[in-house]
Order: sequence, then C-alpha cells, then structure tokens
Amino acid sequence: MDLTYKRKNIYATADKAELKRIMDYAEGYKSFLDNGKTEREAVAYTVAMAEKAGYKPYTLGDKINKGDKLYYNNRGKALFMLRAGKADIAKNGVRILVAHIDSPRLDLKQVPLYEKAGMAYLKTHYYGGIKKYHWLTIPLALHGVVALKTGKTVSVNIGEAETDPVFYITDLLPHLSQELNRKTIGEGFEAENLNLIIGGIPEGGEDKDGVKKNVLKLLNEKYGITEEDFLSAELQAVPAAKAKDVGLDRSFIAAYGHDDSVCAYPEITATLETETDQTVLTILADKEEIGSEGNTGMQCVLIDDLLTEIAKSYGVNPALLRAKSMCLSADVTAAYDPDFASAFDDNNVGQVNCGVTMNKFTGARGKSGSNDASAEYIGYLRGVFEKAGVVWQTGELGRVDLGGGGTVAKYIAKINIDTVDMGVPVLSMHAPTELISKADLYSAHKAFAAFIK
Ligand code: MN
Ligand code: MN
Repeated sequence: MDLTYKRKNIYATADKAELKRIMDYAEGYKSFLDNGKTEREAVAYTVAMAEKAGYKPYTLGDKINKGDKLYYNNRGKALFMLRAGKADIAKNGVRILVAHIDSPRLDLKQVPLYEKAGMAYLKTHYYGGIKKYHWLTIPLALHGVVALKTGKTVSVNIGEAETDPVFYITDLLPHLSQELNRKTIGEGFEAENLNLIIGGIPEGGEDKDGVKKNVLKLLNEKYGITEEDFLSAELQAVPAAKAKDVGLDRSFIAAYGHDDSVCAYPEITATLETETDQTVLTILADKEEIGSEGNTGMQCVLIDDLLTEIAKSYGVNPALLRAKSMCLSADVTAAYDPDFASAFDDNNVGQVNCGVTMNKFTGARGKSGSNDASAEYIGYLRGVFEKAGVVWQTGELGRVDLGGGGTVAKYIAKINIDTVDMGVPVLSMHAPTELISKADLYSAHKAFAAFIK
C-alpha cells in the first residue's frame, strides 16, 4: 500500500476518450472567451445558453416551484441561475457555485477624449490589479455601453472584427530608455500615461482639436453619441486578440480573461448539463477584481435575498437553509511557474495539468483576510470528488509573505455557508494574455458537476 500523496498529471494518465473530451470541451470555452470579454457580454452570452436549456427569467418575489429553472439578471452585469431541486433543502441546503466574470482591464475615464501632437487619445483608469507595462504596444479593443439621457443604451464593440481598427498605447524606444530602465517597474510606468490612440486625421485643416473633432464625428456617425455622452458610459479597453491554442499538442489556451472565465464557463456547463435533485444556485459575479463592492459584486445582499426567497417558497427557515448550504468559490489560483520558481512553494501550489486546484485559504500576512475553510468541509469534498473520479489538487497562491490575494469566498462564508476556493491554476495571471491547461479546465467542469450532483 502506497501511503504517500502525489499529484496526478491528467495528460499523462487520461485515456484516448478522455483526451478527446478535454479537447472538445475547450472549443466551447474558447467561444465563451471570445464572446464574453466583459461582464456584460458574459451575462448576455450565458443568458442565451441558459434560455436554450429552458431557463426562464425570475423576478424577486415570484414563488419558486420545485423543478423550476430560473435566472436573475442583475443589471446586465451579474447573473444568478437557479435550479430548484426535489431534494429536501432543510437537510441538504443549496449547492452554490460562484465565479466572477469581470477581468482586469483599462476603463475609460468619464471625460476621456483629448488631442496632443496631432493625435487624439482616450484617457483610462485601470480596473483591477495590472502590471501597467503589459498594456503598452498591444492591439486593444473597446467594449462597453453608453447610457443616453433618453434611457436608451448604446452598445459599443470596436476592434474585434477582422476588418475593425484597434487602439494602441505607446512605449518608449529602447534607444532612449537609459533613464527609464533605471526605474523600478512600478515607478517606470504611470497610470496617467495609459492613453489610447484613437485617431490622427484632423477635420477642418489645421484647426485646434481638429483630430478630436473628427473622432467625435466618426463616433457620432456610428453610434449617434456626443462627447457629453461619455459622462454616462462604461467603456473598457481589452486585448483585441482571440483565444488561441498553445503548444504543438494544443494542451494550453492563451487568452484574455481566463481569470475568471476559466471557472465561470465550467460552472455554467456543469449547471446546465448535470441531472440532479439538489437545489443549485450558480452565480456569475461582477466587481471581484476591485473588491466585490457595489450592487453587482458579491458583497451585495442579493445572494441572501435570493436564498431567502428559495427558503420562503419551500417553507424552510432561511437561517437553517444557509447553515445547510455549501459553496465552491470558483476562482483561479496561481500555477507553479519554473521561470519564477522562487515565488512558490512547489509542494503547495497548483501545477498545470494536475487538475482544478483547491485553496483552503487565501489572504496575506498570515492568512489575513481569508476564508480559511474547515478541514471537515474539505474532507467531505474529497469524498465527493473521489467518487466522481475528479483529478484535483491543492495549492496556495505563492510563497508565504511574498504578497497575496483574496476572492469572494469570505463574503459567502460570512452568511454562514461552508465555502472553499476551487479553481483552475493560471500562468501569467492578470496579464493581458493568460495561460491555462485544457486538462485543468475540463477537470473544473467535472468537479463542479460532482459538487452539485
Ligand atoms: Mn479571480
Ligand atoms: Mn483576479
């Protein structure tokens, strides 16, 4: 009897049929990535998937009947999908899966447009944790909405179609970078210099602000908007590239937004495809990258409201329902990177191709700010995953005291629900193009399906 614990490499141990399932599954995911680069787009895409699977819109206060498949679209930026099961929720509670669908990016400021040196620019304010230099010299697309005074909303998407123009942030040439190279990476690149070039042809000859005026004319022709309309816009610059297979064996996917689409998508597919008697609440959250604030983030009481509605409909005490419920906080974790080996404890970090990774805790400086899941809950989950043949592993973000991070887990745990973080390990997390393993992606789908079964 082997008494030792070892991670299992999925690619090394999967049979041909499983390997095909892994590869096939990744195709649907790449489409989700390309069509859901912002929280709004991810919600719209998921609503379409849910409706195809028979889900109907839910209004707060509606009675929920056993067997119902419902979704609650929170302001177009967060989504709750509910499967009302036959099982006794006073005993089993609700199985909750939560991932986030916002990703680090450059948001436009509210008065973004200006002209300098014959170029029109858009000023940005970065959203989430980024390394600023990553965003220089790469093709960027503009996604989002402009809300007009009339109540009408205009959707904007420029830079994704083959024939679309893209936007661009400049960097200093190496020939003149002697001063810049002496600065730290944190000091060398300033947020106020993350400005997108949006045009170069002036209207009306040598007029002051002619380029800016011409840009406004083009925007007005295409979207019917004026400069003032930026005041009530949410426009986001994201990498213009599509998701791509990486490696001759196509084992990995490079894409923008793996954090946290790589957990959101398996959550959705597990929810839509798994036959179960459990009541399942599947959440796609907004604002995780800026602390889960706001009424579309997981600190909002809406999750509690919905659980209360479920409890009322089933005639169960809401506090009891919460106490019996369980949650997987499906968020990515760092994958071990041999090129940055000193940042990790290699026994306690997710390894690519070894499956979806559970983080018992997150946080920083001695687990501070972390939901540290209980041994009992993890023991229970080990049994669930083993029964379902899920290859999974455990990890933590990186070396102790090197930094840290948090997830939504603590906000769900806060309302008395057993919660643990479980997600796909990512290389180059928060870079404009991140890398994940297709085997780990499919392992997340299997784990989430087993959890709600
Ligand atoms: Mn995340
Ligand atoms: Mn993140």
